[in-house]
Amino acid sequence: MLAIAATTGSTSPTMVDVASPRDPRDGELLCRTLELGVCGTDREILNSARPWTPVGEDRLILGHECLARIEAIGSGVSDFRTGDLVVPVVRRPLAGQTRRVDLLPFGAFVERGIVREHGFSQPLWLDRPEHLFRVPAEIVDLAVLTEPLTCAEKACNEALVLSRARLSNDVWAASAPPRVLVTGMGPIGFAGVLAALARSWPVTMLGRDERNTFRAQLVERLGGRYLPMDSRELESSDIETAGHDLLLECTGSEAVLIKASSLIRSCGVIVWLGSNRVPQPTTHNVQKLIRDGLLRNHIHVGSVNAAPRDFDDALNHLSLLANDRREELAALITARVSPDNALWHYEHREPQGIKTVVMYS
Ligand code: BGC
Repeated sequence: MLAIAATTGSTSPTMVDVASPRDPRDGELLCRTLELGVCGTDREILNSARPWTPVGEDRLILGHECLARIEAIGSGVSDFRTGDLVVPVVRRPLAGQTRRVDLLPFGAFVERGIVREHGFSQPLWLDRPEHLFRVPAEIVDLAVLTEPLTCAEKACNEALVLSRARLSNDVWAASAPPRVLVTGMGPIGFAGVLAALARSWPVTMLGRDERNTFRAQLVERLGGRYLPMDSRELESSDIETAGHDLLLECTGSEAVLIKASSLIRSCGVIVWLGSNRVPQPTTHNVQKLIRDGLLRNHIHVGSVNAAPRDFDDALNHLSLLANDRREELAALITARVSPDNALWHYEHREPQGIKTVVMYS
């Protein structure tokens, strides 16, 4: 079997030959990858030249955004059948951990395709039922988007929990939904737009693209608003009346974080969803961020990975949004490639590209 790997000391992905898995044993399932998303994390792993390989190995098989089909079932598995379509979770706790898996510290978990466990770019792999979510039939064509969407679902869920704990259970309700800003026009930025829209939260994406370009227009077709980052509209308004309540910051850029945080009104929440694995030179003075954050009682939250709750939300929200925006959701997949043609996408982004999906079937 061929798989896509990151190797210690190299920034280039390679196709490697891997052994087929054995038959599933008690409590295991054999899964077949049907579709695989390529993501910024894959590119960061490669760019670092230091993948977190399984112990004793010098390469990591990539792939963590996956739609799969169950091919065979070991004894003792009753809740899945052969032929079921599933999305696997990325992170798995090491033995003895009791905290919610997405809140575990580094070292207390593995992540398939990212941290010390091989991923899903191999055509067949073994797994256990507790790590799989069943995909409803009506979103099979979109389900490869589930995993990136879970990250944005977590951001919204955490921000809601924090705001209600601090202010009251009535805030961010349907009668006065939070106004959401999203920075970043990649897959996680778009996932932020979807997670907001599925909750009927008005959402604006800020980006560097011109308004008449594909990605900017797709935000509006989905039901959000697009504003270029340098738009005058952002400066003129009074922050407490026209400001925003939730920032989903998906770029990892200091400049963007500082600028967008200044648009968040009192008691707003700023969720950090983007970062750089390879440290970037420090270019900005964060005093403005501190001043805005302090005077407006902002909450800044780091957010990585996703809880089981967020997988349920992502699958439900894809079904909900597909009711009247299926074509727009499908447009988020800007390239579909065969495994043979996938490697280029692990090192490059296409202009105006959002999500590349590797098609195995
Ligand atoms: C994945 C998360 C993972 C994170 C950090 C992201 O690309 O979607 O599941 O926790 O990378 O490894």
